[in-house]
Amino acid sequence: MKRLFVDMDDVICDYSSAYQKALKNNPEIRYPQSQFDFFRKLAPVKDAIETLQTLDASLKFDIYILTAPSIKNPLCYLEKRVWIEEHLGSRYTENLIISPNKGLFIGDILIDDHICGAGQENFNGKLMHFGCEQYPNWSVLNEELNLI
Ligand SMILES: [Mg+2]
Repeated sequence: MKRLFVDMDDVICDYSSAYQKALKNNPEIRYPQSQFDFFRKLAPVKDAIETLQTLDASLKFDIYILTAPSIKNPLCYLEKRVWIEEHLGSRYTENLIISPNKGLFIGDILIDDHICGAGQENFNGKLMHFGCEQYPNWSVLNEELNLI
């Protein structure tokens, strides 16, 4: 089995849309991501949940969710945990890693929308840059991962 790490924000949950919408609706709140329930209410990214379930069922991947916290917002630790349970089921809460440094982890693949900033640059496996031209969405990623 390949060990696969998957980021949360803007990879499986749609952080940016919620952030922009909150800023537009309430411009006086400068950091909407620090508001109660912001992280829990994020919508899933298209095809993310279904693809993870398919990859999981293939038994080719040992899947972990690896997300960096918004450190100044203690609520996000709780809300990310709740989001995972609500969208992926309680089993995945055992595979949830919240760490500001993704370079500490040993694995084969990291799917992330950032290539640096939270230790992604030090990840020892293959970094699949989600949202870039090569891996624009989960449909393409699904095809790529099925070839492994
Ligand atoms: Mg992200």
